[in-house]
Amino acid sequence: MDRTAHFRPFRTLLIANRGEIACRVIRTAKTMGLRTVAVYSEADRDAMHVAMADEAVLLGPARARDSYLNIARVIEAARQSGAEAVHPGYGFLSESAEFAQACFEAGLIFVGPTAGMIRAMGSKSGSKMLMEKAGVPLVPGYHGEAQDDATLAKAADQIGFPVLVKASAGGGGRGMRIVRSADELAAALVSAKREAKAAFGDDRMLIEKYVENPRHIEVQVIGDSHGNLLSLFERECTLQRRHQKVIEEAPSPTLNEAQREAVCAAARKAAAAVSYVGAGTIEFVSNGKDVFFIEMNTRLQVEHPVTELITGIDLVEWQLRVASGEKLPRTQDQITLNGHAVEARVYAENPHKNFMPSVGRIRTWHTPEPSNGLRIDAGYRQGDMVSPNYDAMLAKVIAWAPTRDAAIDRLNRGLEDTDVRGVVTNIPFLSALVTHPDVRANAIDTGFIERELKVLTPPAAAAGDLELCAAVAAILIEEAEVTQTEASSPWRTAGWMPVGRRQRRFVFRHGQDAEQEAHLHYGQGPAKLSIGEREFAFTSSPSADGFDLTLDGLKSRIVADIEGHELYLRTRNGRFDLHWVDPFGGDDEELVGEDKIVAPLPGTVVALLAEIGAKLEKGAPILTLEVMKMEQTLRAPFAGVLKVIKCKVGDIVQEGVELAEIEPEAG
Ligand code: ADP
Repeated sequence: MDRTAHFRPFRTLLIANRGEIACRVIRTAKTMGLRTVAVYSEADRDAMHVAMADEAVLLGPARARDSYLNIARVIEAARQSGAEAVHPGYGFLSESAEFAQACFEAGLIFVGPTAGMIRAMGSKSGSKMLMEKAGVPLVPGYHGEAQDDATLAKAADQIGFPVLVKASAGGGGRGMRIVRSADELAAALVSAKREAKAAFGDDRMLIEKYVENPRHIEVQVIGDSHGNLLSLFERECTLQRRHQKVIEEAPSPTLNEAQREAVCAAARKAAAAVSYVGAGTIEFVSNGKDVFFIEMNTRLQVEHPVTELITGIDLVEWQLRVASGEKLPRTQDQITLNGHAVEARVYAENPHKNFMPSVGRIRTWHTPEPSNGLRIDAGYRQGDMVSPNYDAMLAKVIAWAPTRDAAIDRLNRGLEDTDVRGVVTNIPFLSALVTHPDVRANAIDTGFIERELKVLTPPAAAAGDLELCAAVAAILIEEAEVTQTEASSPWRTAGWMPVGRRQRRFVFRHGQDAEQEAHLHYGQGPAKLSIGEREFAFTSSPSADGFDLTLDGLKSRIVADIEGHELYLRTRNGRFDLHWVDPFGGDDEELVGEDKIVAPLPGTVVALLAEIGAKLEKGAPILTLEVMKMEQTLRAPFAGVLKVIKCKVGDIVQEGVELAEIEPEAG
């Protein structure tokens, strides 16, 4: 390899990515004194990574294909901004050999391996052939060239069911099917190939023995252009949903010392097989005893922070040093393991609605102060838009402590102290997950989340006395603030000041629960609240992110956020979304009749399936909405005629917006 052609010093770095990873890379690049250039799409004009970088270049329209995935535009942006090197982050173009090659040809340094190395490792089949030669343990399977049905069927028989059919070009769990018996194989191949063709433009398949109840273990490696290669211990990422990682930790609590050394040695052997340069991950599945190579990722991973926290190494810094042609600063015996780290991925998604992504504006963004072994890698701030065009990961909460138990406790506390409002998040689900006794006990496998979904997504707890009291206190505080800051406020003129009132009635609704009532009594001394037969004396005093509520002598911390009639509360009992049914202000929710077809979630209209004037049967498809990667078809609620269509393909619509109107069939 001509080293200096690929790796040499640079001063300006373009980050070809967005969200938390772009922010993460910019942070380190800045501490190294580099000039940073962000790229962005039209949807990301005001995004956090754009604000953080020294300069930013607009790539194009929101759609990833027209912006972050547009190789020619990214190269052009580097030229425009005078960038000498490009960090691809993860996702988008990070594993595109074509992009690495294009950077090279444009005289840019690609922060990662060469195009040749990506090609060699990028295909699951190709890399398995390489690993076989290098003597790395593989899952028994077929990864040959021939793709005809007979060859694949014979291979599956020889391997023995259950098998896993996988797209050779696959990623993100797509193009993958478990096949339990020979008669399911043909159908699984057809659907996996279709998915692979659509996602990767390549429908070649490989077949592997399906390891039952497996664990996912992976090793971080990094190589320099002087022939040095290091392993930086392993991570365990067994907590997955649909083959996508949710919680990751380092080191693996499953391996003993000897197993750890063995898997790291196998990973070094794997990376050495392609004389690997840059940061990469060798992934294995394990039956708890042995590990089997499944693939290599030739880039930085989402979960790299847990490795950083146990080794004290800044992986992005090392990536940038390697790209500039430097030698790795340490030798293998200088890499030491300290303590335990756990990471949780915070997504804008609704675990109660099959993890449907949630989009919209972030109204509240509160994360605990990073310190004490707590790290937050975020890509969003208060006021930012979560767009339906990209992955819904908002941030990662990462905790370190001397022991696994303490790290889990710290992570859970970090999650509890995180409030994101405006979009629905998976934070309560993550809390339930990390506090599950089986997770504590490491009695898990990759199917754990799916099996325990009910326990992990409990119905919201009913609001109790503490919550009702907190809700009343929050309203009174808000009213006091409003009346102080706006002398002409309608709140004041409408007689909202509690002065002179003897009693005031509050009604709240919490989810599907029955309405709850509380009566506030004024008089001498602290206010009293009665709920049913019970009566409470309470006082409140402001605190950093809410107020302290003292209820019958017991003081507790309340986080509160009010918008209109919606109250969000966090108390020691959890999180509560209360609706204040205001008897005077009136609930001005517009009632949308059944004949209106309304967007159930914010999304993009991807297909119109019926025309104006069409006679529709009940259940006939009208249009398809896409919310991130999920499609949802809206159907006629009853038989009738399609009267109005209020949207067109490509429209981005908000939740509750009317999209079409249907007139019931006469008679
Ligand atoms: P992708 O590149 O699409 O993420 P991987 O090959 O990395 O696909 O596999 C993703 C996940 O699927 C792994 O983390 C593991 O949970 C599961 N998996 C992969 N191969 C096997 C196998 N042979 N047996 C059991 N589970 C597997």
